[in-house]
Amino acid sequence: METCDVAIIGGGLAGLSLAARLAEPRFKNWRVRVLEPRTEYVRDRTWCYWAKHAANDSHERAPLHPFLASVAMCWPQWEVMYRADNASEYEAAVRTGRYSYEMIPADRFYTQTERLISSSSHVKLLKGVTVSETVIRPDGVEIKTDDGSLNAALVFDSRPTAKLSSAAWIQRFQGFELEADEPVFELHRATLMDFSVSSAADSEAGRVHFIYVLPLSDRRALIEDTWFVSVSDACNDVDYQSQIKHYLKRRYGLENYRVVHREEGALPMDPALRPSALTSRIVKIGAGGGMARASSGYAFFETQRACDAIADKLMAQFPVVGEFSLPRWRGDISYWMDAVFLRVLAQRPALAPKIFFDLFSTVPPDALARFLSGVATPFDVAKVIAACPKIPFLKAAFFRS
Ligand SMILES: Cc1cc2nc3c(=O)[nH]c(=O)nc-3n(C[C@H](O)[C@H](O)[C@H](O)COP(=O)(O)OP(=O)(O)OC[C@H]3O[C@@H](n4cnc5c(N)ncnc54)[C@H](O)[C@@H]3O)c2cc1C
Repeated sequence: METCDVAIIGGGLAGLSLAARLAEPRFKNWRVRVLEPRTEYVRDRTWCYWAKHAANDSHERAPLHPFLASVAMCWPQWEVMYRADNASEYEAAVRTGRYSYEMIPADRFYTQTERLISSSSHVKLLKGVTVSETVIRPDGVEIKTDDGSLNAALVFDSRPTAKLSSAAWIQRFQGFELEADEPVFELHRATLMDFSVSSAADSEAGRVHFIYVLPLSDRRALIEDTWFVSVSDACNDVDYQSQIKHYLKRRYGLENYRVVHREEGALPMDPALRPSALTSRIVKIGAGGGMARASSGYAFFETQRACDAIADKLMAQFPVVGEFSLPRWRGDISYWMDAVFLRVLAQRPALAPKIFFDLFSTVPPDALARFLSGVATPFDVAKVIAACPKIPFLKAAFFRS
C-alpha cells in the first residue's frame, strides 16, 4: 500500500488551497497526495470575497492568498438595493472603502493550483480517484478508494457534508454570464443584493429573494437569481431564468444578449458547522468543515486563512497540533451572530431586505467587510449590532421559535 505523510481528500477549493501551501519548498520532505474524483477541471463556480487594499489610491495590497494571479475582477464599490414600505423609488446603499470585492473564476484557480502542485516533486494530485472509506489504524489512516488503498499519517477531508443541523438554511441560486449588444453596466460597482425582485409572497413562503449582478465590462456581467430558504425548500417552483430575464429588461432595458457561461449552487448556511481542532488524524476542512460563513455561504476567505494556519501548525509541530483558524472568542461571536441572524430570517423573513439595507447603509464599509469576512474587531461587531433591529434580534437570541 502506498504511504504518505498527508492525504487530502477532495481537490476542490479547500483541498487545492491546502495543497498549494504544502507544495511550498519548506514542506519538501513531506509526501502529500490529493485525491480527487474529477478527471478534468472546468469553470464550475466563481468565487468572490473582500480584499483589503493598502490605500484607495494605490494598487498596493495586503497579500491574502497565493492566488492573486487568478483574480479576474475587482470592484471598489458595492451596493444593496431596497424599497421601503410605501416608497415609490428603490434606494441604493452604495459603499466604498479600503476593501474591494474581488472575483476569481474557478477555472483560473484550478489551473494555477495544478501548476503550483506539478512544479513541486513532493505533492501529487491524483485525479479520477474517489474515496469510499477512511479507517483509523495504529500506524495512520487507511484511505480506501476505487483505485486501491493509501495509508496516510494525517488526513484532511474536504468532502461535502450531507448532514445539516436543524438551524441550517440553504442559499439556492442560478445564473449566467451574459454578453449584451449595448453598453449597459456600470463597471466599478457590484450589486450584491437587489431586493427589487422580492415580493410579499416570497416572505410569506419563508424565502428571502434577491438578484446579484457583477459587471465584467460595460456589456458583460455575471447575474444570479438568489434565494435564502429553509433546508426542506427545494425551490422547485422557482423559474430562475425568467426572473433574470425580467430583471434585465426592467433595470437595464436589456433584451438582446448572449449567455456565455452558466452556473448554479445550493450552499449550506449552517451555524452548527465549525472548524474542528487539529487533534485527530482526520480533520474536516472546507465548507463541510465549517469554513463557510453561515450567514452568507461564503467560504473562500475563511478557507485561505484556515489553510495558512494549518500549514504553519504543521510546519511547527507535526503531528501534535492544536486549534487552527480564528481565535476562539472571535469564532464564538461570529458563529453565535450567524445563528441569531438565521433565526431572525426564519422568524421574520420579510425583514431581511431592510436588515441588509440598514447594515450596508449604516455600518462603515471597512467594518462591514471585516465582519462579513469573519475578521471583525470588537468595535466592528458593536457597529453591526447597533445597525440591527433590536426587538427581532433579541427575540431570536433568546427564543428559538
Ligand atoms: C456556483 C458557486 C458559487 C460560489 N460563489 C462563492 C463566492 O462567491 N464566494 C465564496 O466565498 N464562496 C462561494 N461559493 C461557496 C464555496 O466557496 C464553495 O462551495 C467552495 O468550493 C467550497 O469549498 P470546498 O473545498 O469545501 O468544496 P469543493 O470546492 O466543492 O471541494 C470538494 C471536493 O471534494 C471532492 N469529493 C467529493 N466526494 C469525494 C470523494 N468521495 N472522494 C474524493 N473527493 C471527493 C469533490 O470532487 C470536490 O473537488 C460558491 C459555490 C458555488 C457552487
